[in-house]
Amino acid sequence: MVLPWHQQAWGRFCRGAPTVHHGQLVIAPPGTGLEGFCVDAGRLLLCSEPDADRETWCGKCQSCRLFAAHTHPDFHLVTTEQESARGEIDLVMAYSARYQDTGNRQKKTRLSRTIPIDQIRKLIERFSTHAHISARKVALFIAADRLNVNAANAFLKLLEEPPDDSVFILATSEPSHLPKTVISRCVQFALPGPDREQARSWLEEHIPADEIEAALALSRNRPLAARSVHASGDAETRLDVLRRLAGVLSGAMPALDAAAALGKAEFEEVLQWIQSFAADVIRWKETGVAPWWEQRFTISPDNISSRRLFGFYDKVTHYRSISRGNLNEQLALEELLIFLRKTA
Ligand SMILES: [Zn+2]
Repeated sequence: MVLPWHQQAWGRFCRGAPTVHHGQLVIAPPGTGLEGFCVDAGRLLLCSEPDADRETWCGKCQSCRLFAAHTHPDFHLVTTEQESARGEIDLVMAYSARYQDTGNRQKKTRLSRTIPIDQIRKLIERFSTHAHISARKVALFIAADRLNVNAANAFLKLLEEPPDDSVFILATSEPSHLPKTVISRCVQFALPGPDREQARSWLEEHIPADEIEAALALSRNRPLAARSVHASGDAETRLDVLRRLAGVLSGAMPALDAAAALGKAEFEEVLQWIQSFAADVIRWKETGVAPWWEQRFTISPDNISSRRLFGFYDKVTHYRSISRGNLNEQLALEELLIFLRKTA
């Protein structure tokens, strides 16, 4: 089902579907339904009798039936192990298994966060034959920005000389991590995120009303992310991160203790948390609008230095931009939290 904030974009995609360009770069904020949109786009492109008036696939043809059964031979899905294990969309897990060695997964302590070249080699092989039942073959890349360098280079060749009737849909929330050579060969399709009201009313269908506000705040107004925060019971973990950051800022918690605790979580995720905390405090300091967590912790914006706060924000942004490189994550966290302490 098309999400309310995607309605217009979906209409545009449907109207363009008959003459779709072979490289589609679909960009949206994380946690707002990007993956579902792209899965539906693939389903529509494969359907043999799409309903142009209702802007949807038919649901009855052989293609639609196989797609729903997760056995369509002309639909291909590549992504990272981490994304497929997330399991928010069954279909993603089912189709990505064709490209991943799932037998080994239970033995691994840390799932891979990149798309390796093996997946692209398989894709190239499968795209060297004609489509089996649909008029075209579709490959969906979820978290396309996670292609490692070799995989991106191998994929580039496929994108430069696409086999007949093939379409590549690249879904990403961080297009800046994709090589420019890949981006320049795609048509860009940007999806808007929801406004606050759309996010709230969508969530009303999925979680209890009195938990919506906190779930939205903890997921930075991203409704699908808010639903998973609620479903996974992650709210406590996220509040704990905030509690530690507020503790460092107020001087109640030593920076190194907080860094040690935060070091146990996913580094990139923690950086996003720290950045959104910094943004909250900056807004509080500059506009007087208190953050939603104001009542929970004892900190005040009065004795915080604006100049240092902005400096802190820039530092977090810097670490986010290099977080996928070779970085001593623990040292980075320690440096950040010591700096945070000094803003007060
Ligand atoms: Zn159909």
